[in-house]
Amino acid sequence: MYPLLEKYRDDIYKCIRCGACRAVCPTFAAELDETMTARGRMALVEAVLDGKLPLTDRFVEKMSTCIGCMACSADCPSGVPVEEIILAVRAEIARSRGMNPLQKLIARNVLVPGWLLGPLSRIGGLTERVLRPFSFLSPFQWKGMARKFPDISGLPLRDSYPEVVRPKGEVKGRVAFYVGCNINLVYTDIGRSMISLLTRLGIEVVMPSDEVCCGAPLLGLGERETVIDLAAKNLQAFANLDVDAIVLGCPTCGHMLKKYPEMVAEARPELKEEAEAFAAKVMDINDYLLKFTDITSLLANAGLDQLRVTYHDPCHLKRGMGISKEPRSLIGTVPGVTLAEMSAPDRCCGFGGTFSLSHYDLSMKVGEMKAEDIRGTDAELVITSCPGCRMGLEDLLDKSGQEIPVKHVVQLLDEALKGQGR
Ligand code: SF4
Ligand code: SF4
Repeated sequence: MYPLLEKYRDDIYKCIRCGACRAVCPTFAAELDETMTARGRMALVEAVLDGKLPLTDRFVEKMSTCIGCMACSADCPSGVPVEEIILAVRAEIARSRGMNPLQKLIARNVLVPGWLLGPLSRIGGLTERVLRPFSFLSPFQWKGMARKFPDISGLPLRDSYPEVVRPKGEVKGRVAFYVGCNINLVYTDIGRSMISLLTRLGIEVVMPSDEVCCGAPLLGLGERETVIDLAAKNLQAFANLDVDAIVLGCPTCGHMLKKYPEMVAEARPELKEEAEAFAAKVMDINDYLLKFTDITSLLANAGLDQLRVTYHDPCHLKRGMGISKEPRSLIGTVPGVTLAEMSAPDRCCGFGGTFSLSHYDLSMKVGEMKAEDIRGTDAELVITSCPGCRMGLEDLLDKSGQEIPVKHVVQLLDEALKGQGR
């Protein structure tokens, strides 16, 4: 009845209801509702799989409120792959109920062709500027304050550079930069810092013009078919580039690109080998800089004025890609910078991409704990490694009355090498 879910039957039965996940689940901490822990969600999924529960609206709602932070799986003694199971459930829901027609229209006609996304986002950005004085009418309100959105009316990053950006001096390496929608359209400053850093280190940067969305937002909505089409397009765009690595500044994209072999395995088996080679080259920028460049010796001669920072671990980077020491090691190398750790730096910020659009209240409730944790560090700057987390954190800090900027690690490093202050 539920073929995608059936594959996880043994994994679902592995849940021994120990409750270890309750201690780390941010949605449980926010709502104190057992059905919003991994344990509660797995019990509901098991009931559906065993035919004891139909796909009711309430069940669908409980599945949609999981942020996919993977904190539960990281602490689960039985190794239940909660994120994968929830994604499979959402795919079953989309299959049996059909996807929201507007979402489907956008997915098929905007994301897959790719070229329309830039113009549409600029129009959206300009409209948002015009409507800003009326933000009190926005549907995204938290405690009487409207959500803070970044400006998206500027030129996309990939339109501001040639496809290949060469370093000035000796070429020491060549990478492909998978830019991703967020860095391309929203936080272009992160992308500019990445390119500036890499070329300064002698690395040639290739940004294929045919890159499309990685598919992560659609996978979260259960729309697997379109994700597979996007994967096929990205595999083609990044084929035969002769690069040492495919680097990213967005771990949500990185975590998604690493799933391509599994995504194409059944639907497009002819692409599996290519997807495996592609995924093996995918690297987070922190990891790449430390392993393949001499950034640490360069940083030893650079620096900033005395600056106290704190670092937020993005869920998709720490638990999805296993990277948490690397950004700290880079931050710690910048002379003048002191890293003040939060009590729980890897607690989810609550953003979760489309989750913050569909469940803004819950997203902010989860995020409030993060905002208080940041307050306790007395940091002057919050650093992270994810443009999505940056978006969520900027809104959270605004709502909690903390005037602290949020930057990506690459921005801190780039500024240190350019000798800039804050
Ligand atoms: S920690 Fe794992 S085994 Fe324990 S209740 Fe949660 S999902 Fe089940
Ligand atoms: S992925 Fe995160 S939000 Fe979802 S059940 Fe696990 S801990 Fe809770």
